[in-house]
Amino acid sequence: MFNIVLLVFAVTVLFLLLINRSNMRRFDEDIDEIRASLFEHRKNNRAAQAELNRRFAEIRVQIMKAHDQMPEDRNPFYINADCIACGTCLPECPVDAINEGEIYQINPQTCIACKKCADVCPVHACQPLIQS
Ligand code: SF4
Ligand code: SF4
Repeated sequence: MFNIVLLVFAVTVLFLLLINRSNMRRFDEDIDEIRASLFEHRKNNRAAQAELNRRFAEIRVQIMKAHDQMPEDRNPFYINADCIACGTCLPECPVDAINEGEIYQINPQTCIACKKCADVCPVHACQPLIQS
């Protein structure tokens, strides 16, 4: 009789352990899914932010050119979503046109398009505003 009780107890414990393990696996999968979706969301946000920066810079440049405040042939630089905020470009700019941030930004009004930032950027995030 004691052996049967022991056997039932052992089977129950085993069963509960198995359920717990499968729950943990499901929990891990859920976490992985959430992490992937957060990563994707963040990536999209960065791309949207960089695109917004680019559009604003483009408009500002157009206005300046229309008012003869910038040479017609100047093509200032901007920084795209690949920026890893390493700061390497910052001291290279001769006119202090670069600002820090999660994605660094270039002030198109002061950028003289010397390309020095692009030459040092490890991820090629500094690009001419108007792509040919
Ligand atoms: S292109 Fe030259 S002036 Fe423009 S942000 Fe880069 S380093 Fe500064
Ligand atoms: S060097 Fe490139 S990656 Fe580093 S902060 Fe400047 S733009 Fe961003």
